[in-house]
Amino acid sequence: MERFDVLIIGAGVTGAMIARNLAKYDVKVALLDKENDVGNLTSNANSAIIHSGYDPLPGTNKAKFNVLGNKMFDEICEDLDVNFYRVGSLTVALYDEQLPLLKELAERSKQNGVEVKLLSAEEVKKMEPNINPNVKGALFAPTAGIVDVFNFVVHAVENAVDNGVKLFLNEEVTSIVKEGEYYKVKTQKEEFYSKVVINAAGCYADKIASMVEPIDWKITPRKGEYFVLDHYKEGLVNHVIFPLPSEKGKGILVTMTTSGNYLVGPSSELTDEKDDYRTDPPTLKNVRAQASEMVPSIPFNQVIRVFAGNRPTCTRHDFVIEYSKKDKNFINVGGIESPGFVSSPAIGEYVVEQLVKPILSMKEKANYNPKVRKYHRLYNEMREDNYKFSNEHLNYSEIICNCEKVTLGEILDVLSRSNPPHSVKALKRRTRAGFGKCQGGFCQPRVVLILAKYYGVSPLEINYDGEFSPILLEKIKGGR
Ligand SMILES: Cc1cc2nc3c(=O)[nH]c(=O)nc-3n(C[C@H](O)[C@H](O)[C@H](O)COP(=O)(O)OP(=O)(O)OC[C@H]3O[C@@H](n4cnc5c(N)ncnc54)[C@H](O)[C@@H]3O)c2cc1C
Repeated sequence: MERFDVLIIGAGVTGAMIARNLAKYDVKVALLDKENDVGNLTSNANSAIIHSGYDPLPGTNKAKFNVLGNKMFDEICEDLDVNFYRVGSLTVALYDEQLPLLKELAERSKQNGVEVKLLSAEEVKKMEPNINPNVKGALFAPTAGIVDVFNFVVHAVENAVDNGVKLFLNEEVTSIVKEGEYYKVKTQKEEFYSKVVINAAGCYADKIASMVEPIDWKITPRKGEYFVLDHYKEGLVNHVIFPLPSEKGKGILVTMTTSGNYLVGPSSELTDEKDDYRTDPPTLKNVRAQASEMVPSIPFNQVIRVFAGNRPTCTRHDFVIEYSKKDKNFINVGGIESPGFVSSPAIGEYVVEQLVKPILSMKEKANYNPKVRKYHRLYNEMREDNYKFSNEHLNYSEIICNCEKVTLGEILDVLSRSNPPHSVKALKRRTRAGFGKCQGGFCQPRVVLILAKYYGVSPLEINYDGEFSPILLEKIKGGR
């Protein structure tokens, strides 16, 4: 088995950003994940907000990396060809007794170095005509944004792979032992050897860390449930709308997404099961009631999906980013709950520059390329020369997903990249085929056939998500 200098466990946004930063250097890097795609767990199911940093307690890792990370998003999203918009956020007070807390948050923002402005009720109503008319005021944070979380992780890993990182999917780490200079990392299928191991395993980071030594922190997932609305009603909200935060998190928000949908949620309840992604009607009813208090006219008759994500909530109440007590060559990057997504570029840089560099000699690569190949999303680009382009590239004239207007050309493009989709869900996240109103009812059979033809396998072998999640069970009629 090939030996590595650095092995990263977990290809969520944290592992992806560490891998991309390591790819700048002349070191052999392996990125492992137990899932059939990168960014398949927490990094796949969250609010997708690039928080300004007004909320984390000053002096914490959360505050430091949130504020640094936020500033890095314009350049990274440009390089990775990912949709990102600085739409700004409004944290609203609906009652007079909440106004002192708004002032406290404004003070905290100042300490964190975040630009904010306190707004009067009238100013808020002007900016957000659909807000509860009884609003008392708000904290405006202009640097908050929204991002396409799916392609952020996918393209970060693609860029890392293009620069030499090796990606291994469907590899669940089961044990870690030090043998001489190397760690032997065993998965259910193989053994990997690496001088340095980085644990970026999300909700499982405590389990991975405990494979090396006893630890004094634990992760209990905190589940968040959401509604996704179709993209119909324009201008329902113009900014990310938050309530005031509590010890449970930033509260239930109402926001637009980079794809033009609206997102309402999340709830915040602790769960003992790291893999529990079920939603339940009473929790969603509560989400709906709380969101409607802020924005009464949310059109819940246009909900097209509900989903849940699990925050890797840590007993330390902060990100754990440190060497293991026993050995500097094992690095823990755990407890990366919100604001973990926005923090990820800064965490990736810190881990590589401040933790890996002192223990491994690393030379910068001369040929490192920070950019991914441009992705042509015909419908979004609204190219003036659309007609000419699709005539010249005929696959772009064939629509596969009608709801989201995804063409065959886009699907073949993502399949030809260095971090391609292997499942229907992975293809959906990259192209949006199946994300629309019919939720794949019409395009999924075609997507299955395209995947089967591309990989030269039977459609029966195409999975929805993980390795053992086929959509088709057996052939029952003649057909193709
Ligand atoms: C409801 C909710 C809302 C949120 N909203 C925001 C927000 O708006 N803005 C923001 O900045 N942050 C937000 N977050 C936080 C953000 O999503 C997380 O901080 C971030 O996604 C964590 O990324 P990660 O890579 O550390 O973990 P993950 O994405 O979970 O990745 C860890 C990876 O490790 C892999 N793994 C685990 N065990 C093993 C093993 N044994 N072997 C191999 N691989 C393994 C997993 O398969 C997984 O892919 C939110 C989170 C939730 C749940």
